Amino acid sequence: MGGELQARPMSSPVQPLVAAVQSGDRGALARAITLIESTAEGQQEEAQALLEALLPHARTGIRFGITGIPGVGKSTLIDALGIHLIGSGHQVAVLAVDPSSTRSGGSILGDKTRMERLAVNDAAFVRPSATGGAMGGVTRRTWEATILCEAAGYDRVIIETVGVGQSELAVDRMTDLNVLMMIAGAGDELQGIKRGIMEMADVVVLNKCDGANTKACASARNDLLQAIQLMPARSNGRRPYVLLCSATEGTGIAELALHLEQMADEDKTNGAFAERRRAQWTARLDSAIHDELSMAFARDEGVQAMRASLAVQVADGLLSPARAAARSVALFRTGGAPPRE
Ligand code: GDP
Repeated sequence: MGGELQARPMSSPVQPLVAAVQSGDRGALARAITLIESTAEGQQEEAQALLEALLPHARTGIRFGITGIPGVGKSTLIDALGIHLIGSGHQVAVLAVDPSSTRSGGSILGDKTRMERLAVNDAAFVRPSATGGAMGGVTRRTWEATILCEAAGYDRVIIETVGVGQSELAVDRMTDLNVLMMIAGAGDELQGIKRGIMEMADVVVLNKCDGANTKACASARNDLLQAIQLMPARSNGRRPYVLLCSATEGTGIAELALHLEQMADEDKTNGAFAERRRAQWTARLDSAIHDELSMAFARDEGVQAMRASLAVQVADGLLSPARAAARSVALFRTGGAPPRE
């Protein structure tokens, strides 16, 4: 990629990569995502240029979030769902979000093999988990990676998370519909499911409903339905739909796909889909402003010079942290920093 970029100094340096991504070249898409994920400052300029060039070409599709603890069967289900969607004429990209990078079983490297059928399917793109980092960074990069996938022609993007922490809340801000996966018999606590995560779900899949587990699934479904009745409905008036699946046997997969597509159609018709996307763009803008400001603040020499003395005063109890912060911001706003050489 580097050589290619340097070979065309006169045009935008990312132009060849833009063209390659748009042509559906999967290697180019992978390189583009790597560029987006890079934390090097120089690369961020290129990454944003790439994103801007591709944004108008992003295919309008549906973004699904799939969440659940390790071992619940996410990869197996995504593999089956992805193949089903491809069978209906879609192109499917899978992105994993894993801020902790502590998944069991070394699955980070195993993502490709965990989704055996998708990994070898020409209509699929599977991106193993991004490495750790601040949640904001992971979210931004995943959101941008989603746009890149859509620009490469993928109209169904599945974002996989481990379902135990903040990442789901962040993912909710970039998906159109969310699926929460659970297993019958394991209590909510055991599954690490926080109430908020349940409330974000459009569909709750009870997975591994096969063999000896089939009976337990039926009663778990009733328990879940009762619990859901007590929950507040989402802003679109929806409560999670409960579905029994066996990802390994493939049962419930067609119904899951159908249900997701129908919900998306419904949301498109009543305007909820567009409204949610607009709110997500606004949230993205807000967080970009926040990031930009924090970086500018951190780089400001005057602010940094003042920080040490403020820290001493705060630690000595002479100044409250809030007032110290206000002074830093005042200095930043008035540009009181000494001029840089
Ligand atoms: P993930 O960590 O959530 O991605 O879970 P995996 O998809 O890797 O599945 C974990 C294990 O559960 C694997 O051994 C799968 O074969 C198994 N598994 C997944 N789905 C099912 C299912 O529907 N039924 C049964 N019996 N096993 C399943």
